[in-house]
Parts: sequence; C-alpha cells; structure tokens
Amino acid sequence: MTVSIWQQAQRRRAVAYDVAVVGGGIVGCSTAYWLRQRDPSLRVAIVDANSLGAGASGRNAGFVLLGTHEDYLSAIREYGERTAHRLWQFTRENRRLISELDGSTFGWREKGSLTVAGDEEEDDRLRRALPYMRAAGIPVVYLGPSETMERLHAQGFHGSLYCTTGAAVDPLRLVRYLAAESGADALTHHRVTKLHSEGGGVVLDTPRLQVKAERAVLAAGAYVPQIVPSLQQYVRPVRAQMLATHPAPDQLLSSPVYSHDGYFYARQLDGGTILAGGGRYQHRETEVGYEDATTPAVQADIERYLHTHFPWTTNLRIESRWSGTMGFSPDNRPVVGRVPNCPSCLYATGFTGHGMGYGVRMGQMLADTLVQDEPPKSYKLFTAERFQSKPSVPE
Ligand SMILES: Cc1cc2nc3c(=O)[nH]c(=O)nc-3n(C[C@H](O)[C@H](O)[C@H](O)COP(=O)(O)OP(=O)(O)OC[C@H]3O[C@@H](n4cnc5c(N)ncnc54)[C@H](O)[C@@H]3O)c2cc1C
Repeated sequence: MTVSIWQQAQRRRAVAYDVAVVGGGIVGCSTAYWLRQRDPSLRVAIVDANSLGAGASGRNAGFVLLGTHEDYLSAIREYGERTAHRLWQFTRENRRLISELDGSTFGWREKGSLTVAGDEEEDDRLRRALPYMRAAGIPVVYLGPSETMERLHAQGFHGSLYCTTGAAVDPLRLVRYLAAESGADALTHHRVTKLHSEGGGVVLDTPRLQVKAERAVLAAGAYVPQIVPSLQQYVRPVRAQMLATHPAPDQLLSSPVYSHDGYFYARQLDGGTILAGGGRYQHRETEVGYEDATTPAVQADIERYLHTHFPWTTNLRIESRWSGTMGFSPDNRPVVGRVPNCPSCLYATGFTGHGMGYGVRMGQMLADTLVQDEPPKSYKLFTAERFQSKPSVPE
C-alpha cells in the first residue's frame, strides 16, 4: 500500500526505544527475549509488517534439529570439520535453551528425530557420517532399513540415523511465548520501508510510524533485502509448502522424520494429525520469490511421498495446505553483520530452512552483541565477512 505525502504528514507519529527489532519471527522475538534477560531496563520494540509469527516462523513444521540443514558428512564437506562441529554445538545450545523454557506453553516434544535415507547413496553417506558424529560427541545410532521401517510403520526407505536430541515444537506458540516474556512492545502491522543512521542511532520508517532507536536488529528473514536492498547478495526468497491431514486413528510416527536429504519431512501431532512438507527439489525454478501460494504440482508430490512411504495415510483427508517464504543464504548457513552505513543496526538472515534449529541461540548471540563491547565468539561463525565481498550499493 502506498501512502501520499499528505497522509504521511497526518498519520506518522514518532516513538523512541533503546532497541528496535524488525521482524517478529523466531529470530526477532528471541532477540527481544534475550535483551530482557541481559538488561531488563532496556525499552525494546518488535516492529512487524504483519502479526508476530506471520512469516516462516509461524508456518514451519516445528522441527528443532541439531546441525545444519544437511547431514553431518555433507556439512563437513561444505564447511570443514571444525566449522561443521561448531555449527552443531551452536544448534545443541539452541536446543538446550529451548528445553529450559516453559515447554508446556509451546508443545515441546523431545522424542528424538530420524534422518532417513531415500536411496542407497544417501544411506551410504549417513553410515559414513557415523564415526565423525561419534567423534564429535553426537548421540546417534544407525538403524538398518527394516528397523527404520518398523519404527515408522513405513515402506520404501533405506537406513536412518536416529538422533536422541531431535525435538519438535508448535513454532507459532514458541514465537508468541518469547515475545510475551520479552516484555517488548509489539508494534504489529507496521511495515518498515527503510532505515537510516541518525546521530549514532537508527531511524526506521513505516507508513504510520517513525521508530527511533539507539540500536536495532533487522531480523526480517527473507524480507531483509526489501528494507536494505544491498543485502540481497546474502539472502534470496525460496518457497516451502506443507499440508496437514485429518487425524490418523493411531500414533504411528514416533518421532519427526527428515528424509531425502531434507527434501521431504513429516511428523505426527499428539492428536493424530500428520504434517508433511517439502517436495521442492523437482520444482526449484517455480518455488522461489515471495508469493504465498500452494501449487497442485508440489502438493501432489508431498501427498505421493506420504502415500508411498506411509501407506496408512492414503485415506486420510487433507485438511489444510499452506506455504511460507524461507531466506536462503549463498552457502546455506545464517548470515549476520552490520547494516552498511548504519553501524548501530545488526542484521541476521539466511536461515535456509533450519531457523528453528538456530533461532533462540541466535537471538541470544544478537542480544549479547548489542549489549557487549565486543561481539561474542560465535558471531564469527556467521559473519558475512566470510564471503569477502562487501555490499557495493551505498544505502
Ligand atoms: C513450510 C516451512 C517449513 C519449515 N520447517 C522448518 C522446520 O521444521 N524446522 C526449522 O528449523 N526450520 C523450518 N523452516 C524454516 C524456518 O521457518 C525459518 O528458517 C525461520 O522461521 C526463519 O525465522 P526468521 O525469524 O529469520 O524469519 P521469519 O519467521 O520469516 O520472520 C520475519 C518477520 O519479519 C516480518 N517482516 C517482513 N518484512 C518486514 C518489514 N518490511 N517490516 C517489518 N517486518 C517485516 C514478517 O512479517 C515476519 O514476521 C521451515 C520454513 C517453512 C516456510
């Protein structure tokens, strides 16, 4: 929606905070939560274009998995053993931090998770990852094909890795819990159109509000480049689709399933509903951009996945279908940094389909970076400096 110069003069009011967090997803709300833990005297606002959890954080499967979006061996190949291990530790801390919150308010379930091979090559890779995982102290066991299928009441899979640390949540309730506990003002339905540096602080413009803050965090997920265009080199929008079935009469999926290199995933809620998603790998060209829509082709692939591997789902009616926009980074791991020409504003984006595995710990790291003189050690793991090219477009 555009706003005329006359309407702006009439409607825009100024508000001031110590810290403004842009984006009320898992990363933004966690940052606000940890700011309160670190310094309760801070006046904090969460500014969101929609409602809290309106983005990917309120639309995902709620898996809280350790490690990156890929298996451990692939992560070692992509980032090196040391970085892969540090990323794993970061996500382990994320899980621990969530487990210490009041899980009854956001459906915390810790029944482990299964990374399941869709073909022989993946099965081989998962088995070869085992010694590296054990050496890194990761609690995992390999299950052969028959044990995997027995455990999941499934067919057509190869072997799997059962990780005892896998967990799941209701992601929207977690976001709202963190926001409520943060004590921050939720300025919802205020879309930030631009931001700039002023007097050492940050000014955020929205059609109806001008938010001034001493410091800010841009945690708008895939939407970060809509506010700071030069950051598009670090994040691009990718669509993910999911569906939910009518409840199955029995509890047959004992723990969340992440299969086919993460291109398919499924879990069963306590009431019996099956959630499933993925199916993007054969539709990569269309599953990009910001459009919130499901497509018959991807939805049919998700249904086919369910019916092929979990035949007992074949007669379950599909109750709902939805999509969400994920922010993918160039090397699939989160990216943090300072907004060009606005040093009092940090950004964090590019969670690449795995933001629940990082988000709460990331919020803690961002809060620490804001309140301390020096960023914490873990900041280096995610800084955009690894790409060794600075944004060239001046803001
Ligand atoms: C279908 C689906 C399934 C997924 N499953 C999982 C899973 O099981 N486990 C997992 O770890 N990850 C999963 N993910 C990925 C995960 O959801 C994301 O990585 C994570 O939610 C990103 O969090 P965020 O806070 O960075 O961004 P978001 O949750 O997208 O939050 C960004 C917020 O910014 C707001 N915003 C946007 N533009 C503006 C603006 N201009 N001004 C103000 N506010 C703005 C939005 O309204 C939104 O609330 C899935 C994603 C999808 C879509």
